[in-house]
Amino acid sequence: MVSKRMQASLEGSICIRDIFEEGKKLAAIYGKENIFNFSIGNPSVEPPAIVNAAMKEVLDSEDALTLHGYPANVGHPDVRQAVAKHLNKNFETSYTLDNIIMTSGAASAIAILCNTFLDPEDEVITFAPYFWEYKSYVESFYGKLVPALCDQKTLQPDEKTFEKAFSPRTKFVLINTPNNPTGAVYTEASIRMVAKVMQQKELEYGHPIYLISDEPYRNLAYNNIPVPYLTHYYRNTIVVYSYSKALSIPGERIGYIAIESCVDDFAEIIATATASIRYLGYVNAPSLQQKMLKKCVDASVDISIYEKTRDILYDGLTAMGYECIHPDGAFYLFVKALEEDDTSFCNEAKKERIIMAPGSAFYGPGWVRISYCVPSELAKASLPAFQRLKERYDRGA
Ligand code: PLP
Repeated sequence: MVSKRMQASLEGSICIRDIFEEGKKLAAIYGKENIFNFSIGNPSVEPPAIVNAAMKEVLDSEDALTLHGYPANVGHPDVRQAVAKHLNKNFETSYTLDNIIMTSGAASAIAILCNTFLDPEDEVITFAPYFWEYKSYVESFYGKLVPALCDQKTLQPDEKTFEKAFSPRTKFVLINTPNNPTGAVYTEASIRMVAKVMQQKELEYGHPIYLISDEPYRNLAYNNIPVPYLTHYYRNTIVVYSYSKALSIPGERIGYIAIESCVDDFAEIIATATASIRYLGYVNAPSLQQKMLKKCVDASVDISIYEKTRDILYDGLTAMGYECIHPDGAFYLFVKALEEDDTSFCNEAKKERIIMAPGSAFYGPGWVRISYCVPSELAKASLPAFQRLKERYDRGA
């Protein structure tokens, strides 16, 4: 018998992967070019050429036993040093290799931090809408995820809702900007507000409250919009990063946790996180990918391709009368459903062969998420289908 806890967590959950698979089945029936599958966040831009070249170079040049053997749980020292140097150059930080833990992407980094910080019934605040897996990560460690709903006009964090979400059991705040599912980049004013409220709450409760910044989309910000580096605003910040989207390599599972030495209980956190890597069964981030990364720390995918697709969809949909927030980052467009029930709206859209994820899956009911990591031509070809969908609702059909 499987665990009651897992059974309960699966009940009624909306699985985006299932929606994606359904879209794939439809594509097999009607042809790929006739199905507009906007359900999943799987990168559609090729990894930069340096990624494959670096992997080959590593395979040809590194000692095989060292390369394929167990590295330290926290990762190869030279790779951690390269990451620290990259961050210091770009964000005026003062990391050394001792501040960096290599992880199998952001997902494992968050799981490691949940294991590090959470006792049963401890609370984690996150701004909603949020990446649907956050709930699973937190609940897997017997914690409670407390959503703080963003302002519904701007999709920026809202001060009043945020303040109300705290309790003496709040261990950390999990923030994600550029955001999945909304594409919003939280402004500097929003970040200052978050830092101010958290400082007040730390004083009120008399213990550290950490800010965990999950930033797999940091590189995917358009028109040079600034994405504030949160350690400059709040001392107890821990950064989680992933190369899944920045280098288009989600299957390779590589990322890191960065913790500045000034963070409260720094040594204890590093020791506990290191043990968590083992206890949770990750053991270490993939060794070959770590070594590849050392040669690619400054590389990035060509984000102009995503930007072009975003413009096609945003301009096209708003011209038809759809309501959406202009997304400044990531590859998601959050659109108001044309009826209250976002799942029913997604089902109606399917009749036009448009596959989208309902906002309810992200604690954003009444909205839908379009994941626009698809070829620009497909996005363009989808516009008449969106037009027909809108006309059907306008006619009340
Ligand atoms: N956090 C957010 C906000 C995401 O959107 C994703 C993946 O889509 C992850 C974390 C997990 O990413 P990774 O592939 O690095 O585990």
